[in-house]
Amino acid sequence: MKVHLNQIPDEGLHIGGEEPEAILDLGKDALVRPAGPIRYDLDVNSSGNSFFATGSLAVDFECECGRCLETFRYPLRLENYAMQEDLDGRETVDLTPTMREDILLALPSYPHCDWNGEKVCSGPLLQSVEPSAAPDQETPSAWDELDKLKIQSR
Ligand SMILES: [Zn+2]
Repeated sequence: MKVHLNQIPDEGLHIGGEEPEAILDLGKDALVRPAGPIRYDLDVNSSGNSFFATGSLAVDFECECGRCLETFRYPLRLENYAMQEDLDGRETVDLTPTMREDILLALPSYPHCDWNGEKVCSGPLLQSVEPSAAPDQETPSAWDELDKLKIQSR
């Protein structure tokens, strides 16, 4: 999304709309996938060598829980969003790379379905050391077989 500086009046410019979620470029196998476009609502202005934008960004994500693998909706909201860029004589500013970076930074790196406390994750705790039943059943029987062999060989 590019903003031309000569289109910004002295009092600033309000821009609102949607950007395609493809700009996030998260990849198909990501644990976090955008479920809709990036909605922005920004006031932009420039002053001297600086361009700045303030407002809000919103994207809905579909995440896979790192513990129970359940898919859940994660609505990302950046309500007090602010960005600033040096102009260096440029006539246009592309907001997309900064928006992308800020959205990715705000995403949870290990999404859990119980992020808002509305549900309890049914997945195993990472620290869990619950023994699985299988080895306990197999180990004695293996020793039993050995004992039988010993008995037979006598
Ligand atoms: Zn979960």
